[in-house]
Amino acid sequence: MTGQPGRTGRGGGQAGAGDLLALVRTGRATTRGALQQATGLSRATVGQRLDRLFRAGWLREGAGGPVDSPLGGRPSITLEFDDAHAVVLAADLDTRHARAAVLSLTGEILAEHSAVLAVEDGPDAVLGELGGWFAELLEKAGRGAREACGIGLAVPGPVDSETGLVVQPPIMPGWDGYDIRSRLSRAFTERTGVAPVPVLVDNDANLMAYGEQRTGYRDCSAFVLVKVSTGIGAGVVVGGEIFRGVDGGAGDIGHIRVGSEALCRCGSQGCLAAVASGERWPAGWPRPGCPPPPARTYATCSPPGIRVRRRWPARPAGRWATCWRRS
Ligand SMILES: [Zn+2]
Repeated sequence: MTGQPGRTGRGGGQAGAGDLLALVRTGRATTRGALQQATGLSRATVGQRLDRLFRAGWLREGAGGPVDSPLGGRPSITLEFDDAHAVVLAADLDTRHARAAVLSLTGEILAEHSAVLAVEDGPDAVLGELGGWFAELLEKAGRGAREACGIGLAVPGPVDSETGLVVQPPIMPGWDGYDIRSRLSRAFTERTGVAPVPVLVDNDANLMAYGEQRTGYRDCSAFVLVKVSTGIGAGVVVGGEIFRGVDGGAGDIGHIRVGSEALCRCGSQGCLAAVASGERWPAGWPRPGCPPPPARTYATCSPPGIRVRRRWPARPAGRWATCWRRS
C-alpha cells in the first residue's frame, strides 16, 4: 500500500532524512523504491535525502547486491545503516559510583570503566571527571575523539527533558538547575581538544526502561521498569516513547508516602525509598527463607489482559523482568 504523499515523518509532516534513516535502520524500507513507497516522497526527493545521509556517513550500500524494486523496473541497490563511522559515549551516574562506556552505533560496548564517583561532590567536579574518563576510554577503544557523535548521561534525579536541567533532585545536592549539558560538553572538549558534541541528559530509570523496552520488549506497548538502588525510581515507556507526565515526574515513585516514620534522604518521613531502597536492604532484606533478588533492577509490563508470564529466567543474570501479556 502506498503511503500518503510525503506525510510519513514524525509528527505527521513530510518525511525528512532522519525518517528515511529510521526506515532503513529498522529494515522497514531498504531500497530507494521501498523508501518512496513508504514515505510517498518523489524519487528526486528521496535521492536528495539519501545524498545527505551518505555524505554524513550514516548510510552505505549493502553488500547483498541489487534486489527487485517494489515499484518494478530495474533491481535496486540495498541500503544499510553504517554503524562504523562514529561512536557514542555514555555514562550512568549513581549516587556513589558511575559507569562510563564507548559504544558502537548499534549499542555494542567497545570500552567500559566503572569506579567510585560521589554525586555529592557536585556537578562541576563530577562532570569534569567524566570528561577525563571519556578521553581515556576512547583511547582504550582505539577510536578517535572526533568519532564521538554524542554523549548520553543518566542521572539519579528528575530531569526536564526540554532543557536537560535536573529539577529539585532529592539525592543530588548542588545539582538543582545546573547546566549539565554545557559542563559535560566542555569537559569532553577540554580533555580531547575536539569540538563540542551534543549531550543528552535524562533520568536513569527513564533511560533504563527505554533501553530495555527497545532491546528486549519491542512488542510491549506499555512498559514499566523499577530501579531499586540507593533510591527508588521508575521509567515508563508507552507506545515506544518515554512517558514523563505533566511535570516530568511520572516515574518518581521513591518519594510516595507509604505510612512509615522512617526518615528519607529527601528530608521527609515515610517515603517508599526510606523503607525499601538499597540503603535499607541490610536491615530488612533478605529475610530467612527469602532469597535476595539477583540484582537491583526488575521490569514489569502491564497491558490489561491479563495473564502473568514470568520471563526473568530467560533474561541475563542480574535482572528480573516480568511481563503481563494478553493470553
Ligand atoms: Zn523521600
